[in-house]
Amino acid sequence: MHCWLKPTAPCAVFTKPLNLKAQQVMRMNSHTLTVTFLGTGSADLYPAPFCNCENCDAARTYGGSDLRSFSCALICDDLLIDCPPDVISSAMRCGISLMNLKALLITHSHPDHLSPTLLLSRRANIWAMHRPHKPTTQIPQLSELAIYANECSLMLVRQWLAEQQKYDLKVRLIKLKPFEPYQIDEATTVHAMPAAHCIGVEDALIFALFRFGRCLLYAVDTGFPNEETLSYMRQFQFDAAVVDATYGVSAPTREHMNIQVALALRQRMLSEGMLKEGAPFVLTHISPHWTPPHHAIANELERKGVLLAHDGMRITL
Ligand SMILES: [Zn+2]
Ligand SMILES: [Zn+2]
Ligand SMILES: [Zn+2]
Repeated sequence: MHCWLKPTAPCAVFTKPLNLKAQQVMRMNSHTLTVTFLGTGSADLYPAPFCNCENCDAARTYGGSDLRSFSCALICDDLLIDCPPDVISSAMRCGISLMNLKALLITHSHPDHLSPTLLLSRRANIWAMHRPHKPTTQIPQLSELAIYANECSLMLVRQWLAEQQKYDLKVRLIKLKPFEPYQIDEATTVHAMPAAHCIGVEDALIFALFRFGRCLLYAVDTGFPNEETLSYMRQFQFDAAVVDATYGVSAPTREHMNIQVALALRQRMLSEGMLKEGAPFVLTHISPHWTPPHHAIANELERKGVLLAHDGMRITL
């Protein structure tokens, strides 16, 4: 375990996945906000399946932290940010059950961030209850899952649900609008803000998430935020930030950052009081074709004050 020390808000970073039991104990005993990185790769995946370039091959050889699933993050054990097609196997690899999931926050509709696979897997419980032969184990009831997303993403979800009419998957849909706060539960509020992504196509979102008095910025699949977003963010003092660094050591675009731009965002947030001193600043959504493997650059980035996320990493705020 590696610790980032912060005088007013201690934060722990676990570089190995914990199992759910440890996570539940942490949640029940102390009201901490945990962020578990189930996936940290871009839409390319790391390694890209149809590629044997130097970085993809190195990741296959080294394995471990070099292997990245599609990006998504689990908050405590009940709130998931983004729902990629491989989230089930990502959770399985981390030893995490998604049974306590109550809310899903979706950044945008790109297929590496939103897939029906997880929703449709909720049929398993219903199927087990309704078969004539009794299950040989105790099956828990499905609790409601609230999905918070923009209109484009909700349209996709509605379409999938319509195809599964005979099952009641207990899904509730809530449309997010930029610059409006939504209360998710008594301890949790989210503010959606515009991402610099899918410009002119859909309202892609980044999130300021509050829970147990802690505040997290989740800004994945975005270029450097525009001035309107930065001005809204100025009302917050984040305890941690999770930020897009898709283009790694190559040139950024309007719709994705690289490491240098992410570092500039950190500096701006620190200098304008949006980020607490010593707050973890985590880079994620990493592509093999613009970023060397984790083992080659993670230590150097840590010396610059940022963490390069890897699958299974957890931060505790
Ligand atoms: Zn993406
Ligand atoms: Zn490659
Ligand atoms: Zn995207």
